[in-house]
Amino acid sequence: MSRLITGVYLWLAVQGLALAGTVDFKNVRLWAAPDHTRVVFDTSGAVSHHVFSLQNPARLVVDVPAAQASKALQAASNAGGLVKGIRTAIKKDKTLRIVLDLKQSAKPRTFSLKPNGQYGHRLVIDLYETTGTRITGKDTGKQAVVKKTVVNKPAALRNLVIAIDAGHGGDDPGAIGRRGTREKTVVLAIARELAALIRKEPGMRPVMIREGDYYVGLRQRINKARKENADLFISIHADGFHSQRASGSSVFVLSRRGASSEMGRWLEAKENSADLAGGVSLDDKDDLLAEVLLDLSQSATIEASHEVASNMLGGLKRLGKMHKSSVQRAGFVVLKSPDIPSILIETAFISNPQEENKLRDKRHQKKLAKAMLSGIRDYFGNNPPPGTHMAALAARKYKVKSGDTLSQIAAVYQVSLSSLRGYNSLKSDRLRVGDTLRIPPVQGS
Ligand SMILES: [Zn+2]
Repeated sequence: MSRLITGVYLWLAVQGLALAGTVDFKNVRLWAAPDHTRVVFDTSGAVSHHVFSLQNPARLVVDVPAAQASKALQAASNAGGLVKGIRTAIKKDKTLRIVLDLKQSAKPRTFSLKPNGQYGHRLVIDLYETTGTRITGKDTGKQAVVKKTVVNKPAALRNLVIAIDAGHGGDDPGAIGRRGTREKTVVLAIARELAALIRKEPGMRPVMIREGDYYVGLRQRINKARKENADLFISIHADGFHSQRASGSSVFVLSRRGASSEMGRWLEAKENSADLAGGVSLDDKDDLLAEVLLDLSQSATIEASHEVASNMLGGLKRLGKMHKSSVQRAGFVVLKSPDIPSILIETAFISNPQEENKLRDKRHQKKLAKAMLSGIRDYFGNNPPPGTHMAALAARKYKVKSGDTLSQIAAVYQVSLSSLRGYNSLKSDRLRVGDTLRIPPVQGS
């Protein structure tokens, strides 16, 4: 009993000390995203802080009362994104002054984070590029020439937009394998392979939700896909489990209520807590609106997502053992787009040593990307959105009837016999009634 009391007193004393004088700024990490730079300080306790900007040259000053910078922090050369360097000094009143030398003026947003998972207390500074004061040129007095365009032209066919979301990033490494492989790294590599394949695919365009090693909030991921008018959202992960034996891939769609399996519930908690590791969600206000929208159009979207997911399973099954051979359902935040079919693929278990090795292997990453592409092709082949090249191609199909000959069909569609053969990989000109022929695009149109 008395030992317990002493322990409590000691604990209070340590806490008191920390409050009284020495919050240590232990370490700093920088993550450069396209639109902002994130600076994360690891601190030994919670801090209060005061921030202001200075110009010529552009700097950001952070004052933290009763704090000090570790030797490691002082010695580190910290440059990246908008930050040229970081200096620290102690003022007379024991305030730690941190100066970020900036490449250009930036709008700061700062917040502290409580311990979460692998991290302790953190002070986070996000620097957003400001467009700056634009120097307007002299008025030339010339009127802009307004070109008249012909309006009644048919709308040009558009590409299918595939949003590829590499999970985690930046301060959030995701799951970590026994060899130290980080989920955020391998899923970005797979996402890049998939984007390269889609770029080569006629009528398709990839959009990378995350292009480098930085964190993107879960709702921001959805928002980016919606801004790009994505036709499909694919979130790529490689998760860990406490059992090393768990293996294989699984494909998830959004569940309306909870997850469909124990594993799903476990992963759901993990993937959704990423926002806590990577930052804070400032988009919570949108939650109510999101819920309302969800109810309105989510059913149709979930149905579509389920179909994509089934096609995706087909592709992945050819690659090897599946963890779950049917489509799984879970409440992942990134799948909550009310109007974009969305799936989440757990490509493998990084916690399984054999799968960890596979995930690191460039050839296996390519194979996974190919399997995903075949799933995408299958889905949109059957469900081409109106106005896309894919829809136009799908419309150019012909079902063989009794008495048809290949040359007749070629003549009707004004395509050459050889292109019709080639396009359908026909070995002979013999046709079977009921077969569907794909009609190649007319040359020069
Ligand atoms: Zn993950």
